[in-house]
Amino acid sequence: MLKHYLLVWMLLLLFTLLSIEAAQAEKLYIGGQMEPIEITTYGDDNDTFLPLAPLLKPLGLRLEKVEGSFKLTAPQGRVVYFSPGSTRATVDHAFEDLDTAPVMVEGRLYLPESTLESLLMLRPLESDDEETIRLMPLLVFRDEHLAGRRVISVRSPLPLHYRKTMLATPPRACFDFSDLLFDEDTGNSGDVHEQLRLSRQPDHSTRLVLDLPKTGAVRIGMADGGRKLMISLPDTRPVATPASHASGKVVMLDAGHGGKDPGSAGADGCEEKTINLDVVLRAAKLLHARKVKVLLTREGDTYLDDDAQAEKANAAHADLFVIIHCNAWDTPEPCGTRTYYYSTQSKRLADAIHRAVVKKLGFEDGGVHQDDLVPEIYDTEMPSSLTELGFITNPDECKLLNTPAIRQKAAEAIADGICAYLAKIADDEE
Ligand SMILES: [Zn+2]
Repeated sequence: MLKHYLLVWMLLLLFTLLSIEAAQAEKLYIGGQMEPIEITTYGDDNDTFLPLAPLLKPLGLRLEKVEGSFKLTAPQGRVVYFSPGSTRATVDHAFEDLDTAPVMVEGRLYLPESTLESLLMLRPLESDDEETIRLMPLLVFRDEHLAGRRVISVRSPLPLHYRKTMLATPPRACFDFSDLLFDEDTGNSGDVHEQLRLSRQPDHSTRLVLDLPKTGAVRIGMADGGRKLMISLPDTRPVATPASHASGKVVMLDAGHGGKDPGSAGADGCEEKTINLDVVLRAAKLLHARKVKVLLTREGDTYLDDDAQAEKANAAHADLFVIIHCNAWDTPEPCGTRTYYYSTQSKRLADAIHRAVVKKLGFEDGGVHQDDLVPEIYDTEMPSSLTELGFITNPDECKLLNTPAIRQKAAEAIADGICAYLAKIADDEE
């Protein structure tokens, strides 16, 4: 019997060695690069694995090891976390489910070809030549209001090559970016894009045509080692709330309960999960307008397992985690707003949000309390707090919490509290 096991084991070992040895020397071209990089890939039927090391320099990437994960920082500030053997990654704090996990072979990191687009913004092109791999950078586009001007930016994981042409009647500027793919589904964000068109051209290039204003200067500049082109125009559109200390911070919001878990039942029969979600969605919108990056544990009526909320916040490396619930009791009398925290670092956050909510809603001040029984605030690595807006078993508070006006006020208070906390932290750091 033992002999049989040994034989099977040896065959398996041989098979594994063979599949790893299905390594192949290949020529890798990135973007419009003329000279190939010689690399050794290996693969199975599902995916081809490319070594990460030769890609770091051309892409200007910094690779660090952070607590068992690897962190890749791109020149334009894009941050990717991944772990060998895991199909879960985060890109700019948002989760990314990979088809195939990155691997570590003999101390070297390999990325599956199927992950290059989400992790590195490179799209593999079809090739008829088995020994050649060609990766094309994907364009990331933004259209924003900054300091009273409209700033349009085009970014690429590689230095940009473009040609600018001015067109008359009506006045337009035309930018042709060579070897840069534009895909409407990827990497485009910002406000509504007025007076400009982006289109995909033959030969893997992209054209941007911009209508120019009648008056005022148009400024063009490069940044991030030639990987970012910025076009600044006078802006006549309404100016968004100026960026504050909160700008660039990542806040995860959790609307308590959801799906099969309705939470508490209100005095009028309403469900707590609905109020929590509506307030959180409103707060997310307000924070977004203040340039805070907002992540949500749920965006709809979905159920999350216990502890999944804290896990999500930790995995996303959020700067703050804010949880919203409504309170309930067996009798209708109890009322007021209460906020809970666990760690000392969380107390200031809890205080800031609580103060803002009590002020805006005008419910009784039920105080800020330390609590070690709530897993959402106990298990998080970042400052976190849980606010019970009011008692939905109290008929007066229930009635109010079911009005859009009060929910909007609650959302404003949460956004104000978060921004006040972030401003305080920034002041401390200075
Ligand atoms: Zn609740």
